[in-house]
Amino acid sequence: MKFHVRSRGDHDSNILSQRIRNYLEEFELQPDEEEPDIVISVGGDGTLLEAFHQYTHRLDHTAFVGVHTGHLGFYADWKPDEVEKLVIHIAKTPFKIVEYPLLEVIIRHTNEEPEDRYLALNECTVKTKVGSLVMDVEIKGDLFETFRGDGLCLSTPSGSTAYNKALGGAILHPSLPCIQMAEMASINNRVYRTVGSPLVLPQHHTCLLKPRYHDEFQVTVDHYTLSEPEMKSIQCRVADERVRFARFRPFPFWKRVKESFI
Ligand code: NAP
Ligand code: MN
Repeated sequence: MKFHVRSRGDHDSNILSQRIRNYLEEFELQPDEEEPDIVISVGGDGTLLEAFHQYTHRLDHTAFVGVHTGHLGFYADWKPDEVEKLVIHIAKTPFKIVEYPLLEVIIRHTNEEPEDRYLALNECTVKTKVGSLVMDVEIKGDLFETFRGDGLCLSTPSGSTAYNKALGGAILHPSLPCIQMAEMASINNRVYRTVGSPLVLPQHHTCLLKPRYHDEFQVTVDHYTLSEPEMKSIQCRVADERVRFARFRPFPFWKRVKESFI
């Protein structure tokens, strides 16, 4: 089996990463950054997001596992003092795979630029550089509302505990193949009206965001920020691809929610 260990880059994460590499090599696993079967991220949830984006082209062949060197994470749920146990699990036992849904984002342009496709593990957000965002929100091809406000956030179930939660979105169990749209400070008056509640869309219910005015948009996909001066639309739906996590012991989602927030 081939592995890659990705560190957040701080002192503690680097030392722990090197220990994991040494252990795995003692068990005769091969380091291979290009085509790993398993990727161990050491740091926080942000480190796992980075590891995920490094391998979006081979999600079918890569399983992820996260060790946290700070607080308990949603993706990084192994403690530093458990790494010996984790390494033995990786080397000795065929591990179980748990798959989580992803968000597909397609950005189309008003000029000749070809469309861009992204996968998000947490979410995609859209804001303007200056002033409020005014966008038509279409669901399954029908105009649903015209949004005016700070921005919109479309998240995956596993991303529902991140930015989405701060916006008052619901926490969704990652076994549900769906995406959630949450508003950022919508303007509601006699002229502009939005539904106000977060919406949960099932598979194949595409959400299309179309700017009303030409503007420069700031789009985020997980930890990346994109500048979009020529954006015609953003299309969001549940992706066909899924992310695969290596599971060596049960750590139920609701337990992670409780231990992180309560
Ligand atoms: P960051 O600024 O370090 O992330 C903000 C916090 O979100 C960190 O504590 C991070 O955990 C945590 N986080 C990431 N994914 C999570 C998840 N699925 N569930 C619960 N918490 C999660 O930046 P980053 O580490 O590069 O992460 C990017 C993410 O930050 C974005 O995808 C977005 O979800 C989140 N964010 C949140 C807000 C907000 O809540 N107002 C605003 C902007 C961005 P770690 O410390 O373990 O990395
Ligand atoms: Mn972080």
